[in-house]
Amino acid sequence: MSTSFQPDERGFYGPFGGAYIPEMLIPNIENLRNNYLRIINSESFRKDFKNLLEDYAGRPSPLYHAGRLSEHYGCNIWLKREDLNHTGSHKINNTIGQILLANEMGKKRIIAETGAGQHGVATATVCALMGLDCIVYMGETDMERQAPNVARMKMLGADVRPAMSGSRTLKDATNEALRDWIANPLDTFYLIGSVVGPHPYPDLVARLQSVISGEIQWQMRNKTGNSNPDYVVACVGGGSNAAGSFYHFLNEPDVKLIGAEASGEGLTSGKTAASIAMGETGVIHGSMTYLMQTDDGQITEPYSISAGLDYPGIGPLHSWLSKTGRAKYLSVTDQEALDAALLLTRKEGIIPALESAHALAALDQLELKSEENVVVTVSGRGDKDMKTYMERFNLK
Ligand SMILES: *Cc1c(COP(=O)(O)O)cnc(C)c1O
Repeated sequence: MSTSFQPDERGFYGPFGGAYIPEMLIPNIENLRNNYLRIINSESFRKDFKNLLEDYAGRPSPLYHAGRLSEHYGCNIWLKREDLNHTGSHKINNTIGQILLANEMGKKRIIAETGAGQHGVATATVCALMGLDCIVYMGETDMERQAPNVARMKMLGADVRPAMSGSRTLKDATNEALRDWIANPLDTFYLIGSVVGPHPYPDLVARLQSVISGEIQWQMRNKTGNSNPDYVVACVGGGSNAAGSFYHFLNEPDVKLIGAEASGEGLTSGKTAASIAMGETGVIHGSMTYLMQTDDGQITEPYSISAGLDYPGIGPLHSWLSKTGRAKYLSVTDQEALDAALLLTRKEGIIPALESAHALAALDQLELKSEENVVVTVSGRGDKDMKTYMERFNLK
């Protein structure tokens, strides 16, 4: 099969992707589209990106052979430890890359939207690092639910602005950020947090996060003599840690790619965030993709115990990987994720983020053989989820 997993020049992966944007945003998007590849492939960008990833974020992140978890599953499990990065997840890889790009494009003012606050914190962090103005839009409801992350952003110097319309959550914050960008086209850079949004963002973010699979290749080669594992497993919210974990393996058909999406309380419970299992094709945040919607095309409110997976759509690359069969997407309930989080904690002494626990729980749905090598990306650490763990595991 000669399917390309790169977008065409209009940003389409098969029927998915593109740039469905208001006319007033076209100059901004064209400016980005015309410059991003030249800049991120330049010698100076690559050097600055590499240096900051190493000395500021702490890369390379280890690829850890999880001995007791391997014994439990009867195969070799390797954990890609994105939880050990500065600010606690893979999100810093993308924000470092985009802030360098913004700098190179002469932008002085950074805007972002955030749901759980993780991307907002990673953005506020790199803005402090570079001395740039940072405005983060966040739904008012989310600001209440995620107060510690709001405090972090404010301490880092960000201006956190509540989005007061609609359900006052992520999609409303996204609308506010887009409105801001339309009003301030010249000096402002919109720093998107996942492989979503209009072209070129899905491709840009996938390329920046591909540092994950680039490292997995040489780490696997050093540890096993073969750079290709049998499986790569990652959780999928918008899909950036999964895109980064899959990237260098997309054209390696012997590597099975598995995404884990959140089914919340169950696929048919009405409380779910499984966009691939339950979604239909439609436009969200400027791109054509699978998204959860009502019969008349209204986007439905997603639900997952994990704030980072609580998104009604999915990046267009993943819709394409699913449609072509190149990657398989499994759904994992809240309870299965909680069980997997406790299992990893007790077997390995690693408390994962709830998002990452969905990837770990997907192992239960695979038929694993004893000689197989399975890489699971631990996208983040569990500190931010301790309130949920305290309630659900009765730790008070
Ligand atoms: C935000 C987040 C996710 C979900 O985002 P993707 O773009 O799907 O990777 C997953 N894990 C952690 C720890 C996060 O903070």
